[in-house]
Amino acid sequence: MSYDTSMRRWILHLDMDAFFASVEQLDRPDLRGRPVVVGGLGPRGVVSTASYEARAFGVHSALPMVKARVLCPQATFLPPRFDRYAEVAGQVRAILASYSPLVEPLSLDEAFVDLTGTERLHGPPEATAQRVHLRIKSEVNLPCSVGLAGNKLLAKLASEAAKPGGVRILRPEDVEGFLAPLAVDRLWGVGPSTARKLADRGVYTVGDLRQLDASVLHSWLGPAQGAHLWRLARGLDDSSVVPAREAKSISQEVTYPEDLVLEEQVVAEVRRLADLVASRLATECLLGSTVRIKIRWSNFTTRTRQVHLPEPTDHPLLIADEAVALLDRGDLQVESGIRLLGVGVADLVPATFRPVHLFAAEELGEALRAVRSKHGPRSLTLGLSHGQRANR
Ligand SMILES: [Mg+2]
Repeated sequence: MSYDTSMRRWILHLDMDAFFASVEQLDRPDLRGRPVVVGGLGPRGVVSTASYEARAFGVHSALPMVKARVLCPQATFLPPRFDRYAEVAGQVRAILASYSPLVEPLSLDEAFVDLTGTERLHGPPEATAQRVHLRIKSEVNLPCSVGLAGNKLLAKLASEAAKPGGVRILRPEDVEGFLAPLAVDRLWGVGPSTARKLADRGVYTVGDLRQLDASVLHSWLGPAQGAHLWRLARGLDDSSVVPAREAKSISQEVTYPEDLVLEEQVVAEVRRLADLVASRLATECLLGSTVRIKIRWSNFTTRTRQVHLPEPTDHPLLIADEAVALLDRGDLQVESGIRLLGVGVADLVPATFRPVHLFAAEELGEALRAVRSKHGPRSLTLGLSHGQRANR
């Protein structure tokens, strides 16, 4: 059977294996071949990444660290070093970018690459997938898994099947047989509740799902999700590879139709804006380590202040607490009327996990309070307090 290769989409999905733990083993040869657990080491910390040697003892990400220590006491337990992981992720991304301008990072250790139309420059995508795998192994010295298929859905499932350390190429003729035995919850958008609904009706695998008419799925799950699952069961997915926006910061600001004159109002608004910023960070899979606020009074005096956090976060409460602290309520002069408020988060990095699990908000809050009480509140603001008059 032959295919018109010029018309076929080729999407590569790269997933670094046990990324944080592998980087630690790369930097510390004494840890190679031994169980390594990276995560929050505090009393409420959880595992971010366990090396494969630690996984053999049942340690996995999101497991409470206390349990990990019981399951695998001989492991080396390390706090994450995000700067180093970001540096290595940059090396990996540079390799990917040498094959296509369309690279969509999903997190520090995962990315989609659209290889459609790269044949003329780089040869068949199957060979490119093998080369990417090899180059990451030889140039970055880290293990990874690569999936190559006709769309993002299948490429990601293929790289999962290739784990650890393999390359899996799904040609169109392989798709049906590949999907059939997979559990339904492996498909995107099939959460636990949908999986339960399906299991109640005897549908466990993608193969089972594929037996069902669109009308049956429609009646069980509603028109939108029914149609979506019908397509997924057939390995159909049109979504495109979207190169990362170079987001420098995410912020929300509001100019109020009437000046705010009550401190409680201002605090409530800052909290609401912080919450919006946090949810945008979460949707865009980003974490930030600088929190900023902007205040403009009715006379157009404007002040911005920021604080640098010890760890990047997207935690709504943490961001809100920091933003409120930046208000410097003793000097808020709310009686002169506030016409604009803004909250923003900058110094963004891709999120690979929910960091609130790593460092409970209370722990981070405590650390910040400790710095403040030692050096005073100004120690955490970068002195951007400046008034300005608008030209009216
Ligand atoms: Mg990974």
